[in-house]
Formats: sequence, C-alpha cells, structure tokens
Amino acid sequence: MERIETRGLVLYNRNFREDDKLVKIFTEKAGKRMFFVKHASKSKLVAGIQPLTVADFIVKINDDGLSYIEDFHQVQPFKKVNEDIFQLSYASYIVALADACLQDNMHDPALFRFLEKTLELMEEGLDYEVLTNIFEIQLLGRFGVSLNFHECGFCHRVGLPFDFSYAYSGLLCPQHYQEDERRSHLDPNVPYLIDQFQAISFDELKTISLQPEMKKKLRLFIDQLYEEYVGIHLKSKKFIDDLQNWGDVMKGKK
Ligand SMILES: [Zn+2]
Repeated sequence: MERIETRGLVLYNRNFREDDKLVKIFTEKAGKRMFFVKHASKSKLVAGIQPLTVADFIVKINDDGLSYIEDFHQVQPFKKVNEDIFQLSYASYIVALADACLQDNMHDPALFRFLEKTLELMEEGLDYEVLTNIFEIQLLGRFGVSLNFHECGFCHRVGLPFDFSYAYSGLLCPQHYQEDERRSHLDPNVPYLIDQFQAISFDELKTISLQPEMKKKLRLFIDQLYEEYVGIHLKSKKFIDDLQNWGDVMKGKK
C-alpha cells in the first residue's frame, strides 16, 4: 500500500457492518477510490467523510481493494452552498455527474480541479445554474460526446444564427437549415452560449449574467443533449427538476 497526501472530495458514504463505513472519495492524485473507516461514529475522521467535503487527505492507497484514510486537514467548508437547498442540490448534481463519468481508480486531476473550482465559485455566489450548465457542457467529452457548437456542419462558416440538428449532430447555418426538416428551432443565442461555455475559462466567469428566460432555454436544450447523447438519469438531477417545478407552482400562485 502506498501512503500519499492528496486533495480529495467526498462523493458519498454508506454504512457497512455494525459501525463501519465505506466512503467514496474522488482524490486528485489517485482518482476515485473506496475507503474503509472502522468504528466511524467514534472515529476522528467522522467530520471528514461527509458528502461534499473537500480536504487534504492522508491516505493509504490499495490498488487491489479498499483503501484507508489516516487523517485529513484543510477542510474547505462550503458553508453557503450547504445552507441553501437550491445551491446544495445543484452542487450535489455536478458532483454526481463527475462521479458518473469517472471510472474507479482513474487518474483525472484536471476533472478534480474543475469540480473543486466550480464548487468554489458556487460558494462565492456566482450563478449556480449557469455554473452547472458550463460544467455539463465541458463534461460531455468525458462521456465520449464531441459536438461542435462553433461552426456550421455543412459549410463551416462561423458567427451565424445557428440551429442544432440531431440528425447531423451539429449546427446548421441559415443557408443549411433546410438540410434537416426536423431541426431544433432553437433561439440562436442558445448554441452561441453553449459554444462560449465549451471554451470558457474561470476568469471570464465573473462577468456572466443571464436572463431567467435564457436560462430556461439553456436548461431545456442541455437536458435534450444529455438525453440524446449521454443517457444517464441521476437522482440528484430529478431532484433539481422537481424543485424547479415546485418553484414554478409557487410563483404561479403569487
Ligand atoms: Zn452552412
């Protein structure tokens, strides 16, 4: 077994036997691993194994079975995220999405840092819905989905009011709308923003602000993309959708 110190994010924990726990942690240096915590309720580790905890972990990595946590420190408290059910449900969803695209033991430090940074920006108060959209779009590649939202799939021209075609899995410019009679009829701002989301870096994120109507259109289209190309159905996403519907009902009553 190898002893390392690594940043890690707790994905979930579950009970195991009497008072032990199995804890899944996405570590920066060793990928996603299952850790065994004996006598969890009496353990000094108990505060460090809650879902959504990010900390520096000192761990013993076992490539053939369960790994072990020796200690943890430098916990990043996502205080604001944890206090708001909307923020918390979006944070839980992007964590579940990262979990879903990642194989056990696969080293992916770039994804780790991207996930940690996205959660930090949520904590800072940036728009969690837009952050989630950006996370979803940039994660498509990890699900093996490669879509071009930059140029027309036929003539490769850029900067036009594009629509999306599922038949061609790509954009159509106005001259090529006719190629697919079942094209999506999107608001052209939707593919434009998705193209931005694919390429965006966190420094530019501070300035993003979108109208509720546009956010709804993005949500709908990204849901369709995930349905068509990824095909996973996460409980945490269902929860967000239910929250949304419930929120709409409340607004309608006002
Ligand atoms: Zn074209």
